[in-house]
Amino acid sequence: MKNIQNEVMSWVQRSTDQHLCLAVTGLSRSGKTAFITSLVNQLLAVNQGARLPLFTPVREGRVIGVKRVPQRDLATPSFNYDRGLEQLYEHPACWPTPTKGVGKIELVIRYRTDRLLMRHLKETSSLRLEIIDYPGEWLLDLPMLGQSYAQWSMQMNSLLNAQRKEWAQAWQDACADLNAESLADEQRLADIAQRWTDYLHRCKDEGYHFIQPGRFILPGEMAGAPALQFFPWPFSTVENQHQNLDKNTTFATLERRYNFYCQHVVKKFYKEYFLKFDRQIVLVDCLQPLNSGVNAFNDMRLALTQLMQSFHYGQRSLFRRLFSPVIDKLLFAATKADHVTSDQHANMVALLRQMTQAAWKNAAFEGVKIDCIALSAIQATCPGVMAYQQQQVPALRGRRLPDYQPVTLYPGEVPAQLPNPSFWLQQGFAFENFTPLEMNADEPLPHLRMDNALDFLLGDKLL
Ligand code: GDP
Repeated sequence: MKNIQNEVMSWVQRSTDQHLCLAVTGLSRSGKTAFITSLVNQLLAVNQGARLPLFTPVREGRVIGVKRVPQRDLATPSFNYDRGLEQLYEHPACWPTPTKGVGKIELVIRYRTDRLLMRHLKETSSLRLEIIDYPGEWLLDLPMLGQSYAQWSMQMNSLLNAQRKEWAQAWQDACADLNAESLADEQRLADIAQRWTDYLHRCKDEGYHFIQPGRFILPGEMAGAPALQFFPWPFSTVENQHQNLDKNTTFATLERRYNFYCQHVVKKFYKEYFLKFDRQIVLVDCLQPLNSGVNAFNDMRLALTQLMQSFHYGQRSLFRRLFSPVIDKLLFAATKADHVTSDQHANMVALLRQMTQAAWKNAAFEGVKIDCIALSAIQATCPGVMAYQQQQVPALRGRRLPDYQPVTLYPGEVPAQLPNPSFWLQQGFAFENFTPLEMNADEPLPHLRMDNALDFLLGDKLL
């Protein structure tokens, strides 16, 4: 009898202890490293002072404890949580060094079950939480899978207007006498590919986000590989014009590398990682492009549209044709909400919602739960007030980067809708970068609405 009871208990244990793979992405500097550091820190401090009233299992007192566990998958680099935390607790406090490729960290959450039936069988369960960080730039490559090399080249060339044209000039000059039919010169192709990479870096530095191929900026372990030594064909190429060229010609070599990149780099990432994700949070810094002006803002929208194709699961979508997606919850989070006063947070959410509208349209229909919030993973400002036109208005207090000067300021209003032309003419705000607040090493990191994010992403898994 005892044996049967043990077996039943062990079966219950196995069937109720769960596993969840939570993926965190966003374009570079959107706040992924800060977010994962804070998420892990809040969970580890769940019973030691973390402020998580909106995270239902914590509010109900059902989370018994959380601990870090060694990573099961030995091939993926680990997310360096300890180093990030050390940097935050330094005096003066610094932001964690951003990650550049895929990173992983695993936790086990032990909790009291809330379900009546389960309570009769066993009182506690555990959730193994695998958190994966990866660059959003890698998702920008998905549409390449639906394009030939010639089509992709045409799209890249069509973007070279205004400032982008200026930044790509060195690449265009280097391509001037490139001949599709001549024998490929490896060194020359590598040099020109470097100039295309320099152009992509310049776009990033200027606050532009739509860049392809994404690995050129964040190559991870592929830095220097020949698979990354290609670039768009620089001349207006009619589709099929260069068919039947010898495989050693310049055009055929570039085309082959493009196809290799699509098949073995882009597809591989989706197969090895993306398809294993259960839930996804996409972090978006809407404030930086608002600061940088209309071109940077429109470019960010274009990048988000590309990025969201990875979450369009409709029958006819490119994604559905290539893969079978499994994500059941998708959260868009506007990060760095502590850069603006709290009365602007609703506008941040409304703006992000509009920017990600395409994903919302299909989500309900496709059975993916989707939400949008504004959060600050690591709050670096305190609320304050300041005098403006003989009135007291809400303001922010913090220490400005890079000079660490204490400042009190009103950064301005976030538009609740996609800004129209007149908005850019009277743009009246300036979002500053702040240093993290000074903290004691035993205090959990201060945050805004991380509990909201946790509740959406994990709450229903801890019942
Ligand atoms: P990643 O490239 O996506 O990993 O971005 P990081 O997490 O490294 O964040 C980039 C920068 O954004 C940091 O160095 C900080 O300056 C800033 N940042 C990130 N999260 C926050 C936040 O919650 N509040 C504030 N004020 N700044 C943040």
